[in-house]
Amino acid sequence: MSSSSSTSYYANGYLCHCGARFVVRTAWTIGNFGRRFRGCSKYKVQEHCGYFEWIDPPTCVRGTEIAAKIIEKSSKLEKSVLIAHEMEVVARGMEAKAREKEMMARKKEKMYMHALVVSWCLIVVLLVSFWYIGQVGKMKKNIEPAMITHCVVVVLL
Ligand SMILES: [Zn+2]
Repeated sequence: MSSSSSTSYYANGYLCHCGARFVVRTAWTIGNFGRRFRGCSKYKVQEHCGYFEWIDPPTCVRGTEIAAKIIEKSSKLEKSVLIAHEMEVVARGMEAKAREKEMMARKKEKMYMHALVVSWCLIVVLLVSFWYIGQVGKMKKNIEPAMITHCVVVVLL
């Protein structure tokens, strides 16, 4: 039997020689591509009765040739799927890194905007302070100490 690759299902109500249910399987090897057979359901256990019987007739020469090509194409497709899966994993990793960089950039942007607003506020405060100091200088001759205190308090606020 050359059925290392196969699918199987249990046939209801049928028993093999050892009393266990027998299983119907389909071979996917080149020599028996798509050919069904039945055998003991305990075939995976070493101690089974060894019952085995082909259900379908032997595959013709043309069928065997076609099977080889189908298996070759299927194996190429499987390799392509594996490569695509690996590329997908790499792409997801790159996407995660890009998102992380984007978040860092947004944090920096917020920080720079905050620094810009604070610097503009400081510039405005300085300009107002200079303006008050200029006003104080003009009125210096007539200023009382209480007015100077008032100006200092306004500048500080
Ligand atoms: Zn059996």
